[in-house]
Amino acid sequence: MIELAQEQLEQEKKEIIRRYRKLLRHAKPFLKDDDAKIIKRAFNMSQEAHKNMRRRSGEPYIFHPLAVAQICVEEIGLGTTSIVAALLHDVVEDTELEIEDIERHFGKKVAKIIDGLTKISGVFDYGTSQQAENFRKMLLTLSDDVRVILVKLADRLHNMRTLDSMPRHKQIRISSETIYLYAPLAHRLGLYAIKSELEDLYLKYAEPATYAEIVEKIKVSKASRDRFVRNFINPIQKELNKRGFKFTIKGRPKSIYSIWNKMNTQGIPFEKVYDLFAVRIILDLPPEQEKAGCWQVYSIVTDYYQPNPDRLRDWISTPKSNGYESLHTTVMSKTGTWVEVQIRSKRMDEIAEKGYAAHWKYKEKKMARSESDLEAWITKVREILEHDDISAIEFVDDFKHSLFHDEIFVFTPKGELKKLPGGATALDFAFEIHSEIGAKCIGAKVNQKLVPINYKLKTGDQVEIITSNKQKPNEGWLNFVVTSKARTKIKDELKEQRKSAALEGKEIVKRKLKQVKLELNSENLDKLLEHFDLKSALNLYYLVGKGKIDPKEIKKIKEFETKPARRKTQKISDSDALKKKIKEFTGQKRDQLLIGDDMDIVQYSLAPCCNPIAGDDVFGFVTSQEGIKIHRVNCPNAAELLSKHGHRVVKAKWISQSELSFLAGLKLRGTDRVGVISDVTRVISSELKVNMRSFSIETDNGVFEGNIELYVHDTKHLETLLDSLRQIEGIEEVERIDVH
Ligand code: MN
Repeated sequence: MIELAQEQLEQEKKEIIRRYRKLLRHAKPFLKDDDAKIIKRAFNMSQEAHKNMRRRSGEPYIFHPLAVAQICVEEIGLGTTSIVAALLHDVVEDTELEIEDIERHFGKKVAKIIDGLTKISGVFDYGTSQQAENFRKMLLTLSDDVRVILVKLADRLHNMRTLDSMPRHKQIRISSETIYLYAPLAHRLGLYAIKSELEDLYLKYAEPATYAEIVEKIKVSKASRDRFVRNFINPIQKELNKRGFKFTIKGRPKSIYSIWNKMNTQGIPFEKVYDLFAVRIILDLPPEQEKAGCWQVYSIVTDYYQPNPDRLRDWISTPKSNGYESLHTTVMSKTGTWVEVQIRSKRMDEIAEKGYAAHWKYKEKKMARSESDLEAWITKVREILEHDDISAIEFVDDFKHSLFHDEIFVFTPKGELKKLPGGATALDFAFEIHSEIGAKCIGAKVNQKLVPINYKLKTGDQVEIITSNKQKPNEGWLNFVVTSKARTKIKDELKEQRKSAALEGKEIVKRKLKQVKLELNSENLDKLLEHFDLKSALNLYYLVGKGKIDPKEIKKIKEFETKPARRKTQKISDSDALKKKIKEFTGQKRDQLLIGDDMDIVQYSLAPCCNPIAGDDVFGFVTSQEGIKIHRVNCPNAAELLSKHGHRVVKAKWISQSELSFLAGLKLRGTDRVGVISDVTRVISSELKVNMRSFSIETDNGVFEGNIELYVHDTKHLETLLDSLRQIEGIEEVERIDVH
């Protein structure tokens, strides 16, 4: 056993040396003076410091700093300072060595980088409330020396590559930090290859099944894809050869993450996303011929394939701010699919993959990557982060916050970031943008999908508010807004609505009284209040203003005086009293209350427990305080009312009236097809012109369940609606439910 272990240790030692030599080999072309010696000292120091440590996978710990240094050299294109910092990045944190030791051996610059790395390592490893503050520190350090963040990115990349050995909960936490923080940062720095690898790795751990499925589908479709690419590039290849170009052509598939992202956001199947791929033509040309060469190739490509004029992107004449240069066009292939063709030089390609490091490598005629080149590049990156677009830092900073606070971060359609408390809805967002927009909000598009105004937002959502000039805030809104801004504005608005309705109502009351030669004084006001059974003048004015009290009624004020007693005293107590009263008023002999018609005879209202609508089988129930309540025969309370208080039950039926609206509830169940919600809202709002009061939806594993409250005219109207909803693809079940 011991011998075996001994042998294993020997093997490991050899492997360490092998990896170290590989690192040197890659760094060599760029080293000068004593660089190799300095790197060797750093390696020795790190190896010694970590000698008794192992990674969770069981490997010797030194594998990790070596791998991070390797990434710095090979994939980011950094030089000696970064290699040294990478090799030593974990020693101050994890071993006996102090920052002073580093400074003594490697100087101030390296010490400062490692100090920065040590400070920010706590950010992600311990999950304390200090994390946000530490992250800010990291950004401050960053503006001192951007190598801190580059080495950190390399560190994170290696940790993501070796995440398999971590327990599940750490995999989830580390990968979500990666997608929120590091991938955007890599993107911002122009490190496309790293960015897209980080994204793929995120998906691998966040959604293992989906990831595996996409990988498998890519594998399966590879042969046919390759065939397609071969056929597509064949004529171009021949032509380029004929003209003596030196080039390579890659038919690169999209990254797994970007396929997944597209499937998700656009709701299209794998096959459709995968059809859209890019062919990249990389030309080997001296710098002075790059531009002309690329356009020449563009001309050859478009000789064979018809280009889409809207999709020409010229980032050669005007490179992107992160240094990206390329010429893109989208052309129609012979099989009828669009293919994006990217044309660029070798230099441009390397910049696209590795960012500015490559850029500076090419800037100097000589291939040597001197530290001063790097300094210049670092200055450039710092400028970008500091001045060019401050939102890049805010973006990361804000996202960082969201990991630790009950806050969410969402985007406007233009990509502007908005911070909201957790649980905030689309309506909160609308008020956050502007109170006017909030007040007119009728819905929103979240990540291109139509959602109701009470939709709860999640971090990362992109939200576009849909408004209508006909919209007005109502009481119900207060049930689902969480920001104080929205609450205050809605309340103000409601008060305003009441006030202006009341003001208008008061004028109407005055006018009507004047028409019968009366004044609005307290005596007349009391008469009106008594007649309409109201407590306050404001309430009267409001109801008149809202049209809920017919102004003509006011003109009858003189008649009130003549028969006030009858109005007031004859309260309905049972079925017989109702019959009498109907006789008295209409001359008809019937014992049935006609809903929608007999309003002037008795006070009645629809019971809130079952919200009957026209066409429902109903009965009236005489209450002691609130007149007659109309219940559905199948109301949950019906049995008790009918059996225990039979004497207070009166017959009732609807008269037909299509202008009246009644609140009804629906429950929908179906498969969570993308677009199903917008289909539902379309059927309800545009086709059937039904007004929704609320719409809530929950999805769980591809199944969704929604509750809708809406206003319908009668049961027939409701049936039509139910039928139309059942026609929608993906809807499994629609039923009426009680609303409360
Ligand atoms: Mn590390």
